[in-house]
Amino acid sequence: LARHFDVIVVGIGAMGSAACFHLAGRGCRVLGIEQFDLANQLGSSHGETRLYRLAYYEHPDYVPLLQRAAQLWADLERDSGQTLVHRRGGVFMGRAECELIAGTLQAAAEHDIACTQLDRTQLERRFPQFHIPEDYVALHEPSAAILLPEQIIQTHAELARRRGAVLHDHEKVLDWQATPAGVTVRTDRQTYQAAGLVVCAGAWSSLLLQELGVPLTVTRQPVAWVRPATPQRCGIDALPVWAIEDPRGVGFYYGFPLMPKGLKLARHFTGATVDIQTVDRCPGSDDEADFNDLSDALQQFIPEAVGPMVDRSICVYTCSPDFHFLIDHHPAHDNVVIACGFSGHGFKFCPVLGEALADMALDGGSELPIGFLSARRFGATR
Ligand SMILES: Cc1cc2nc3c(=O)[nH]c(=O)nc-3n(C[C@H](O)[C@H](O)[C@H](O)COP(=O)(O)OP(=O)(O)OC[C@H]3O[C@@H](n4cnc5c(N)ncnc54)[C@H](O)[C@@H]3O)c2cc1C
Repeated sequence: LARHFDVIVVGIGAMGSAACFHLAGRGCRVLGIEQFDLANQLGSSHGETRLYRLAYYEHPDYVPLLQRAAQLWADLERDSGQTLVHRRGGVFMGRAECELIAGTLQAAAEHDIACTQLDRTQLERRFPQFHIPEDYVALHEPSAAILLPEQIIQTHAELARRRGAVLHDHEKVLDWQATPAGVTVRTDRQTYQAAGLVVCAGAWSSLLLQELGVPLTVTRQPVAWVRPATPQRCGIDALPVWAIEDPRGVGFYYGFPLMPKGLKLARHFTGATVDIQTVDRCPGSDDEADFNDLSDALQQFIPEAVGPMVDRSICVYTCSPDFHFLIDHHPAHDNVVIACGFSGHGFKFCPVLGEALADMALDGGSELPIGFLSARRFGATR
């Protein structure tokens, strides 16, 4: 006999755990289903840290969502009694005309966000760890912060359970069907029914959303941790989160201060396209050039942080065609909500998108300003 819920959430990662938390908070009978462990290392939400920025270079329209996310991060810390965010500020560096710098300044100006431009001398005085090329400028954004992704997923899940959500891990959704009367979800354990469905399947989204008609590309993203030779200059009280335009003009390097696992750094660019069902997550000889590139960048830009590479990992991005998120009702089914295509920058939004997904699943729409993330821009219409 199929078990009945109000809403089923597929995938309990960054977005799914937040959606379960918000749905359960509205008194809804919610079932979350996750194919692996909660806070697993196989999707897009592992690796100890994520960056939160408010002056959003990707598009100023994201800023109101980020402002709401900041409130929800504080609420989550209060409700759980845990530190989940280190609010230490960030420094972003590059040529004045690059997307990172020009876009950050535009978002800061449009939304009146504190963001100070530092010339090379001012940067040297304030953050002497950074060495930037002569034609680079720096921006200091005090509201930038470090998020702790695994703890955040665990916390959203734990608080969702306390609010009555039923969360199943190690259970894989095989397929789903929807009619105006409700949805049926078949897993490798049993079949469930619900009034509504929220699909937050990260890099596996295309497998569950074949009729969506929006191509999502999964890419392989190398991440490294080093043990700096001068740790006292790289700790959380000394070094802010940072991003530095790649002098070749393709993406940027970014990183965090020294955390328990080491000092993490990576490059934000579109890595090699992979099939999520066969991707090799072990860093191998094909990745050597990327890891050497990260070491070279550290040597060039933060020489004091140079040290042995103590860990390496592969994460995956799920990129939409325009690298903006896809949050909408399914084009063919009003009772199915989708959240995917986070294109390597979604984590910082998970509490506010969890709230939006709950609105959409329960009320048919949300007052949060998410219209610009609709599938309509790709021609998918309800
Ligand atoms: C290296 C790297 C660095 C990043 N840095 C940042 C950053 O600094 N700031 C930022 O904001 N964002 C960052 N991001 C992006 C951000 O982490 C992601 O956008 C976000 O975590 C995606 O969340 P998600 O819920 O879509 O996916 P996930 O958290 O991966 O969750 C999807 C879940 O669905 C489950 N699932 C899938 N299919 C099924 C099924 N059939 N049955 C059951 N369960 C299923 C999966 O197992 C998985 O747990 C980064 C990403 C990477 C890879």
